[in-house]
Amino acid sequence: MSSKNIRSKLAIALLALFAGSYLVLSLPRCKSDGAPPAKSTAPQTPQPAAPPISVPTFNADSAYYFVKKQVDFGPRVPNSEAHRKCAAWLASEFKRHGLEVIEQKFQAPHFKGGTFDGVNIIGQYKPENPRRVLFAAHWDSRFQADQDTKDRNKPILGADDGGSGVGVLLEMARLLAEQPVDIGVDFVLFDLEDQGDDSDDGKDNSKTWCLGAQHWSKNLHKPGYMPLYGILLDMVGGANPKFQKEAISMQAAPTIVEKVWSTAAALGYSNVFVPEAGNAVTDDHYFVVMNARIPMIDIISRPGGTKTGFVPHWHTHDDNMDAIDKNTLRIVGEVVTTVLYRTAGGVL
Ligand SMILES: [Zn+2]
Repeated sequence: MSSKNIRSKLAIALLALFAGSYLVLSLPRCKSDGAPPAKSTAPQTPQPAAPPISVPTFNADSAYYFVKKQVDFGPRVPNSEAHRKCAAWLASEFKRHGLEVIEQKFQAPHFKGGTFDGVNIIGQYKPENPRRVLFAAHWDSRFQADQDTKDRNKPILGADDGGSGVGVLLEMARLLAEQPVDIGVDFVLFDLEDQGDDSDDGKDNSKTWCLGAQHWSKNLHKPGYMPLYGILLDMVGGANPKFQKEAISMQAAPTIVEKVWSTAAALGYSNVFVPEAGNAVTDDHYFVVMNARIPMIDIISRPGGTKTGFVPHWHTHDDNMDAIDKNTLRIVGEVVTTVLYRTAGGVL
C-alpha cells in the first residue's frame, strides 16, 4: 500500500458513510447519574455454561511453507510467468482443501501506462451457507523496490508484503477441511494491490493502488454479497510485529476491531495486538468499505522505528524469506482462526 496516510477528505467521507450505522452503534453507554446500580430482586437462575469452542491448532510450519511456495515462483508482478503460475497454484490449493474457486479476471491500467491482466482468486467454503465471513490478503508483489538503496527498479519477492497474509489464509483453509464449522467463509486473494504510484507529487494517488480490491468491491462475486465482517491481513509475517487499531478499520468496523483485539488479549498477545490507535492506511479494505460497504478491518504491522512506520523491509529486496518469522505467523494465525471458530460457534 501507499506510504501516505489517507487524505483527510476521504476520511471524512468515510466517517459520514458510516455515521448512521456502525459508528453510532459503537458509542459506549453513558453512566449519566452516577447512582449505584439497582440490585435485582428477581431470583437468579443459573445459566447453563456455554459449550467450549474447539479451535484447531494453527500450524505455523504449514503457513511458512505456503509463504515459501509463493516466493519460490519469483516476484508475482502482473503480466509475468511467475504471476500466472502462482495464480494457478493458489487456485489449485483452495480446490485441494475442498473450496469452490472463482478466478475473477479483470484488466486495469498501470499508472505508468499500459494495462495489467489481474485475477482475484476467491476460495469459497460452504458457498451455500448464507451466514458468512470474509478473510482477505493481496497476492501480488511490488514491481519495484522504491524503498531500497539498490536495484530500485527491480521487482521484490514480497514474502511479507503479500505472501505472509496469503500463507496464513491458506493454512486456515486447510484447517477448515480438517475441522469443519457451521459458517461460510470467503477467502479473497486480491491481485494488483501493490503496483501503485508512491511518488510524492502532492496528488492523490490512492486509486493507483488496490486495483483488485477496487474491481472486486464494484463487481462482487455474488450479487448482494454481505458477510458479517471482513478481515484483511497485510505484512503479518515479520519479526517484532506491532498491530495497532488502524484508523479506517476503527471508523468502519470498530466492533470487529474490538473482537479481534480482545481475542488477541485473551490469548496473551496484547503486546503484539497493542491497544492503541494507529494511522489510516490506504489498503484493500478501504475500497471494500467505500464501494461495497462491507465492515472490514486491516491487520497490518507498523512496528515504527522507520520513516514510514512500516516494517524495515517494506518495498525493499530484503522482503524475502529471511524477513519471515514463524512466530509472527503463528500469533496472527491463532488469533484469526480463534475469531473465525468463535464466530461460527456464536460466541463472538
Ligand atoms: Zn506493499
